[in-house]
Amino acid sequence: NETISKNFIENIIDKDLAEGVYDTVHTRFPPEPNGYLHIGHAKSILLNYGLAKEYNGKFNMRFDDTNPTKEKSEFVDSIKEDIHWLGADWEDRLFFASDYFPQMYEAAVKLIKKGKAYVCDLTAEQIREYRGTLTEPGKESPYRNRSVEENLNLFEEMKEGKYGDGEKVLRAKIDMASPNMNMRDPVIYRVAHRTHHRTGDTWCIYPMYDFAHPIEDAIEGITHSICTLEFEDHRPLYNWVVEELEYPHPPKQIEFAKLYLTNVVTGKRYIKKLVEDGIVDGWDDPHLVSIAGLRRRGYTPESIKKFVELCGVSKADSSVDYAALEYCIREDLKLKRPRMMAVLDPIKLVIDNYPEDQIEYLDAPNNMENEALGNRKIPFGKELYIEREDFMIEPPKKYKRLFLGTEVRLMNAYFVTCTGFEADDDGTVRVVHCTYDPATKGGNAPDGRKVKGTIHWVEATHAGKVQVRLYENIVDEEKGVYNKEDGSLNLNPNSLVKAEAYVEPALLEAKGYDSYQFVRNGFFCADIHDSKEGQPVFNRIVSLKSSFKL
Ligand code: ATP
Ligand code: MG
Ligand code: MG
Repeated sequence: NETISKNFIENIIDKDLAEGVYDTVHTRFPPEPNGYLHIGHAKSILLNYGLAKEYNGKFNMRFDDTNPTKEKSEFVDSIKEDIHWLGADWEDRLFFASDYFPQMYEAAVKLIKKGKAYVCDLTAEQIREYRGTLTEPGKESPYRNRSVEENLNLFEEMKEGKYGDGEKVLRAKIDMASPNMNMRDPVIYRVAHRTHHRTGDTWCIYPMYDFAHPIEDAIEGITHSICTLEFEDHRPLYNWVVEELEYPHPPKQIEFAKLYLTNVVTGKRYIKKLVEDGIVDGWDDPHLVSIAGLRRRGYTPESIKKFVELCGVSKADSSVDYAALEYCIREDLKLKRPRMMAVLDPIKLVIDNYPEDQIEYLDAPNNMENEALGNRKIPFGKELYIEREDFMIEPPKKYKRLFLGTEVRLMNAYFVTCTGFEADDDGTVRVVHCTYDPATKGGNAPDGRKVKGTIHWVEATHAGKVQVRLYENIVDEEKGVYNKEDGSLNLNPNSLVKAEAYVEPALLEAKGYDSYQFVRNGFFCADIHDSKEGQPVFNRIVSLKSSFKL
């Protein structure tokens, strides 16, 4: 099965190994530390790490921190934490592209000496104008034919801080008539008087991505440099750099399609905006598909791995339904986690023939589909809470829960028959009354009679009162993610509902990240920030029902 379902990258690697292009596989994950990672990055991490594992190769963690303007140490720490959590282990191979600034400078000098790079005094705007268009060739810069000597001097002066930002740049001397715009003498070094998060003020010139990235890969001995599709037409420049710098075993760039989720905010830039505008409560807000947000919501590394595998690796852009991610977390948790009772929208149920002040402890399986999780005891008594929607004064046809005169099963407990109710003038039900049949303890009648419905409950005097948070998409799905006029996000004003719920006493022991199935209500996870000892706050990870089918 594994052999027939190899993806296109595995096919390239197999061919390279067979033809002796490389004799090992060495991949890397190279985030820029300018934000938190999201589900799309998880795909790239698991792909690169997975390939290294599969081929017994190596996996590097590399911070691509060559642009001092947006990078921060806070992001370095969060990125490391998220990658570890996902299970990708870089062992002792943690690198920072900024450590290669000296080699990058030397590489630029080498190009100058070969007559393959020159210092250019055109402004950014002039460079753009001179570049030409897709249908017209560009114009050569008047500085293009400076001598090697002059270029070496000017480049050194750039390094020494003699010029202001934008005053001079170093450009590769390639081809101003190339049909590929990236090859029309791209800028490879610029002046930027900025303090770098690691190198401080050592440098005031910084390499551009297209020059730096292939050098980083080559220095580390990367074989397959996997990136996303938007870099496809940068590949000739990547190849030009490694060729001109004469690396003995040059790396190879391979592009795959980004992961997009339909109607979900994924781009780092947009997540950042939600955080900065205070629309969400930090980078780990449970609404977000940042790795930290997914973790706080209750997603597991296994569920994310399963999701990424389900999506596959391809060359064609496509968008995946969020329901597929939900499917993966349900599948992961359904046998692993206990199924407990919690009432999210409570009304009182009074069992009129149950002895006053009596509490008994009933046996309940922790997960009826997985005996290994064992059993627990749950308190039962005369007054319970049930879900408001589990009783109706005037039920529609086929309603299988409580209404006057019907008998239902209280899960893990007894059969009860509804005998009456108390309601306000506006019809709001306050209390439902019933009688129970002591012979049905455990949930079955000795006389073999059946009931149509089973409802969950919690005993009123032992119940814990907790906050539960029900999340919806932060995006208004009717309108789509982006406003067509100004590109802003279309927000859903009702994307968070907070409710007071009653839960079984055992749930009060939940600690941050502990997750459970609340029967009939979904999977919930104790919030890592807001839960206190004995007083958890639960985030709904996902409801139980789904229209998504594999
Ligand atoms: P964003 O577009 O969200 O800002 P980015 O590409 O700027 O992300 P980087 O830190 O440069 O973020 O990304 C590190 C790696 O993750 C890159 O190799 C990039 O191609 C990959 N990556 C980023 N977004 C996705 C995605 N949606 N699907 C798959 N891989 C992604
Ligand atoms: Mg990027
Ligand atoms: Mg980006």
